[in-house]
Amino acid sequence: MGGFAENGAMKGMRDTIFALASAPGRAGVAVVRVSGPACEDVIRRLTRRDLPVERMAVLRLLFDLSNDERIDVALMLRFVAPHSYTGENTVEFQIHGGRAVQAALFSALASMPGLRPAEPGEFTRRAVENGRLDLTQAEAIADLVDAETESQRRQAFRQYEGRLAALYEEWRTRLIRAAAWIEAAIDFADEEIPADAIANSRAELGAIAAEIRAHLDDGRRGEILREGFRVAVIGPPNAGKSSLVNALAQRDVAIVSDVPGTTRDVIEVRLDLLGYPVILSDTAGLRSSEDAIEREGVRRARATAETADLRLLLLDGSRDMPGGFAGASEGDDLIVWNKADLAQARGRAGLWVSAKSGEGLAELIGLLAARAAGRLNRGEAPVLTRARHRKALEEAEIALSAALRTSEPELAAEHVRMALRAIGRITGRVDLDELLDVVFRDFCIGK
Ligand code: GDP
Repeated sequence: MGGFAENGAMKGMRDTIFALASAPGRAGVAVVRVSGPACEDVIRRLTRRDLPVERMAVLRLLFDLSNDERIDVALMLRFVAPHSYTGENTVEFQIHGGRAVQAALFSALASMPGLRPAEPGEFTRRAVENGRLDLTQAEAIADLVDAETESQRRQAFRQYEGRLAALYEEWRTRLIRAAAWIEAAIDFADEEIPADAIANSRAELGAIAAEIRAHLDDGRRGEILREGFRVAVIGPPNAGKSSLVNALAQRDVAIVSDVPGTTRDVIEVRLDLLGYPVILSDTAGLRSSEDAIEREGVRRARATAETADLRLLLLDGSRDMPGGFAGASEGDDLIVWNKADLAQARGRAGLWVSAKSGEGLAELIGLLAARAAGRLNRGEAPVLTRARHRKALEEAEIALSAALRTSEPELAAEHVRMALRAIGRITGRVDLDELLDVVFRDFCIGK
């Protein structure tokens, strides 16, 4: 990641940035982070004392800069570059979490030369620039902060530990080695290259392309887990769709937050169902209508249903099967009979619930969670979590296939370089030529 550091050096000394690391507003404790070259100066001026030992919590009075007013007493931690989150000199203040305390410390910090408030994500950005994290780990930190359910936390933490980065780096390293022989074939006469080197490296390219295809062909489970497993509640008007979504959302196990509906007609609720993030959408009643506005609602409901990961067909169990749904079968979707409290007979296949009495809802939650688990959980292998990664790997796979199709070493080498660049973009490692040079030397070809 030398490129970033050089850019920073060219611009001269970096700004020292500061920000509230804990949630805004009133709290017992607030954490304020400062990172950059002015940190030691910040500590001396705010505490009016010498620097404390690094990584040792110390209690210090914080003083205003312009007068002898004391701002607060803080628990302070000092980290020395490169052993900090950002890789720079860093200091963290744990102050009392009142708004005025935070404001007073911020105005003292802002008044010091070379200091400014951090931009969103800037601490993590500096960590990447200083080689403390790769891009997938930086994204994992955003995911950890956003994780609402246990399964999301687990996935984000694995990515933070570098599992995804390790997989992509392994592909990159193997590709570089395979590419070296192909590059060699351009520059050296045939007799200087081991007889089966080219064949072996082509076989390796084929193997990596196959592994990338398998990784891509994962039913989008990492991405769905990040975004939430989408369940569309469909069915005829008055079956009790809104009542059911409300009943599920109001249960203790369920509610996480409301999501403003994408349209007036589709209302979404995010649920934590036994650790899985599930987004329930309550669609407008599915029926043909003369009314233009209702027709639009129905159109949107159908679109929501089509793109959902699971459709829950809700029917009124106290009535006859409505026309149009008679052919509905379990298949991949769920059929649920509502108004169990009113129904006389329960001969029909499917789950019986009552949005009104709560009967069957725990079973329904278990069933939805099981469907989500079945779709999202498959072993420990690192999974694709973002469209950005998917796009880069698709490019890499296309480039590798092209490299395998051509018999021209120059063309093959160029395609492999494209694949390497695409994979390098995922982790942020794009210093390709340099690495190729190193590996090339390792091979000791020629005089
Ligand atoms: P939607 O059009 O499918 O969203 O249906 P609603 O949720 O608006 O419900 C239609 C009507 O059925 C309302 O009067 C609800 O109170 C009623 N309802 C919904 N669920 C139940 C239930 O489980 N039992 C009974 N008895 N009535 C219900």
